[in-house]
Amino acid sequence: MTTISANLQAVLARIDAAARQYGRDPREVALLAVSKKWPAAYVRDAAAAGQRAFGENYVQEGVDKIVELHELRQLGLVWHFIGPLQSNKTRVVAENFDWVHSVDRLKIAERLAEQRPDALPPLSVCLQVNVSGEQTKSGVSLAEAPALAREIARLPRLQLRGLMAIPAPTDDFGAQRLPFSRLRALYEQLRADGLALDTLSMGMSHDLEAAIAEGATLVRVGTAIFGERN
Ligand SMILES: *Cc1c(COP(=O)(O)O)cnc(C)c1O
Repeated sequence: MTTISANLQAVLARIDAAARQYGRDPREVALLAVSKKWPAAYVRDAAAAGQRAFGENYVQEGVDKIVELHELRQLGLVWHFIGPLQSNKTRVVAENFDWVHSVDRLKIAERLAEQRPDALPPLSVCLQVNVSGEQTKSGVSLAEAPALAREIARLPRLQLRGLMAIPAPTDDFGAQRLPFSRLRALYEQLRADGLALDTLSMGMSHDLEAAIAEGATLVRVGTAIFGERN
């Protein structure tokens, strides 16, 4: 067994244990393997071990891997763009990725909608929300998120799937849960308002248990699968 395959099994076991501990069905929590800064060969290893969903942060690096691993598409690989997205890069993302988690402005969503090829299924998108209230972090504020979500949900060729957040890192479990609980409350509110959302994208290598405790349906894990990045 390769290290990547062993690490993947360990992460799946963490997801399983956390789901059970918090009364959730482990099948409700998907694993996104974040392969940023690692070569295509690592993705190939993870795919051979059964992993199908991969996340990338940098547009060119991600597209290079998607092209290099094109033949693996038949296995059902799904590519998620999770990094900051500038308007001059939206076209290549709309043409190559299946998901975008980092939409936080209407302008970016409108460009993705315009540039998504008709021949492809709708681009799945998550609204990135700034749950820690830090000035420097990207993401729409909790207060502005509902209006933006409603506008994005109306755009063609996009399917608004849910919400994503990257809270400020902390080792305290209770402190990890707090911003996740805020994102979950927003998610429940938007669903109660009639938006058909199914994805709560939250939790990374160091805080996936707290995210699962608060209802994550997808955790984005890099380091615990592929190792420490430089
Ligand atoms: C890098 C990254 C991850 C993975 O983080 P790890 O700590 O390596 O698990 C998840 N989400 C986003 C948005 C990232 O940029």
